[in-house]
Amino acid sequence: MATVDLKDVRKTYFGNVEAVKGVSIAIPDKALCVLVGPSGCGKSTLLRMIAGLEAITSGTVSIGEKVVNAVGPAERDIAMVFQNYALYPHMNVYDNMAYGLRNRGTPKEEIDARVRATAKTLELAHLLERRPRELSGGQRQRVAMGRAIVRYPKVFLFDEPLSNLDAKLRGQMRVEIKSLQRALGVTSVYVTHDQLEAMTLADILVVMNAGEVEQIGAPLDVYEKPASTFVAAFIGAPPMNLLPVAALSAGRTALAAPADAATLGFRPEDATLNPRGGAASGNGAAGLSLDMAVEGVEPVGAESFIYCRMAGERLVLRAAGRTATQTGDGLSAMVETAKLHWFDVAGKRL
Ligand code: ATP
Repeated sequence: MATVDLKDVRKTYFGNVEAVKGVSIAIPDKALCVLVGPSGCGKSTLLRMIAGLEAITSGTVSIGEKVVNAVGPAERDIAMVFQNYALYPHMNVYDNMAYGLRNRGTPKEEIDARVRATAKTLELAHLLERRPRELSGGQRQRVAMGRAIVRYPKVFLFDEPLSNLDAKLRGQMRVEIKSLQRALGVTSVYVTHDQLEAMTLADILVVMNAGEVEQIGAPLDVYEKPASTFVAAFIGAPPMNLLPVAALSAGRTALAAPADAATLGFRPEDATLNPRGGAASGNGAAGLSLDMAVEGVEPVGAESFIYCRMAGERLVLRAAGRTATQTGDGLSAMVETAKLHWFDVAGKRL
């Protein structure tokens, strides 16, 4: 059993930079928790505090129900996978994977058994004699994973492990990491700034902003009910459309906004499109109807992104497949009431 529990964790660098401002997260055994947020939001600092590589200014970090604030990194029973792999260039794959175990004085036969079993799981068995420079990026990434796995740690920590890979390989490795983590059942914390990676990997998604947690939840719950305009804009690509309520009168809508509403949001895929003048179809459900001017169209194959402007505000809509809509066209879009998101002046969900 290895739960990871953070209680009101803070980090202040040099007495004045508040990198992490009171974060509490409870990660159940075997879960994969993803910390996501823009550069500088404090996610790496938080991960390093869990690893024991950074002192905790205040609060507690517990692993397996034991407070580890004063426990050194080597004794925390964690294994970390980094962005730059941190492989030893002069050692072959076998020795890279065996290194940590040898340092701990693990018996030779056990090291051999663990390295070979792990290499098999990761499809590295035929590459054990190679040096890192003789491997592809994806293979190197797998060796880095293997080095963490052979230690049979209680917890895996991943610090942007895929950011050096190209988009296609990143997608493949994402799937591999997820299935490996499931199969091994090791509690994991994964840091990324990539919202797609976060959405697809996480059991528990933690969205961070400026040292604080904006929202914690299952990925699709966060997507469907963002707690703030920050989360609404950060999770989802293209991001949610956010309009000042004041701009609505310019569209042809008579929608009643909740009291205190300052911002209205809707996802690009939640709008039903009609050429201007056509009847808003929707499915008869009540909703928001907006007239806008098309400023650009991006067909990407399976779908098209339509960039529009309404009352000075930019919007993006998403249409399945090809679209007949062209730059310069007028467009009317309908969004059902149930698909509208309302936020107050502080950006909090209403
Ligand atoms: P990135 O995605 O760019 O790595 P991040 O979300 O991981 O960003 P952190 O690296 O945790 O962010 O940094 C959080 C804040 O703490 C930033 O403002 C950063 O400048 C500051 N910071 C990080 N390390 C130190 C340090 N050693 N000394 C002082 N300030 C630091």
